[in-house]
Amino acid sequence: MTTVGVLGGGQLGRMLAVAGVPLGVRCLVVEPVPDAPAAAVAEVITAPYDDPSALAELARRCDVVTVELEGVPIDALAWLAERVAVHPAPEAVAVAQDRRREKHSLAALGISVAPWTDGRPDSYPCLVKTARGGFDGRGQELVSDADAWVAAANRLAPCITEQLVAFDRELSIVAARGIDGSFAASPLVENHHRDGILRTTIAPAPGVSPALQRAADDLIGRLLDSLHYVGVATVELFQVGDRLVANEIAPRVHNSGHWTIEGAVTSQFEQHLRAILGWPLGDPSPRGAAAMVNLIGTEPDPAAVLAIPGAHLHRYGKAPRPGRKLGHVTVVAASPKALARPLAAVHALVNH
Ligand code: AMP
Repeated sequence: MTTVGVLGGGQLGRMLAVAGVPLGVRCLVVEPVPDAPAAAVAEVITAPYDDPSALAELARRCDVVTVELEGVPIDALAWLAERVAVHPAPEAVAVAQDRRREKHSLAALGISVAPWTDGRPDSYPCLVKTARGGFDGRGQELVSDADAWVAAANRLAPCITEQLVAFDRELSIVAARGIDGSFAASPLVENHHRDGILRTTIAPAPGVSPALQRAADDLIGRLLDSLHYVGVATVELFQVGDRLVANEIAPRVHNSGHWTIEGAVTSQFEQHLRAILGWPLGDPSPRGAAAMVNLIGTEPDPAAVLAIPGAHLHRYGKAPRPGRKLGHVTVVAASPKALARPLAAVHALVNH
């Protein structure tokens, strides 16, 4: 049996563990919150991410250790990396943990980012974002004058201030890099957010020119090479005309890649396991058209979802709470045209 240690037992850890089952891969998860989503399908050590005895157990029992969230203590990852293979490497996770390091890494590769400063902005409105630990729209505020900026900068310190990007749409790209440097990217997908939370992903993104897809493949390929990255990573992007502006790096499987479970030849979760175990990467090609709709705050009647042709329901076993991701529905169809009707039926059930 191959054992993969995972720091984090949320829905990403749960779906990683599920993907491991047919491959004979068992996940051993460290998660501080009892009864977290991964507990249904994996052995969970309930402990803080930096608990010495939990880390020692991972080092002793695992072939490789990975993360399902970026907010893990880097010291804990570094301690593990001296004893067992850790992918992605602690340094790559550290870059993605801090928006300042993230922006510097992207800019050093000539990749466009939103204009930003770690001091006072020159103009308003602008976005103040906490440098560390923000997610799902939390940890950022839109400010329209200097007083509001001071208040937000105090609340969110350490923080950066970003100019608003007048984007045409939001995209993301999920890609994997293997231990041998092999590379496989999924097609660009289109993401729709509300209140900073991902609501719907359309895969592949409609109307992407071959040049734009090449630019995205090149961007994430160079980024992963520069970080000596191993595993699946995601870059969230803004499309502005025919240009891509990088917003955020996720050093892990990503919500905008959930459609790959049913919609691609190889799911992002299987791909991540293949990459970190040194196995050949799988084919990331889409099987047709797909859309993923998050279930946020409340869940629809499962039977109503399952009555929709081509709909696949994923429930994470979490207690409902406003703004919380409780599950998702992926709809697959032969073509974008054939996707329209079942996707509308899912949206009619989901409170967006
Ligand atoms: P983030 O936490 O950086 O992923 O941002 C969450 C969401 O806020 C993004 O998906 C965008 O919808 C929006 N957003 C973030 N940064 C900017 C920006 N510089 N300009 C316009 N919208 C932004």
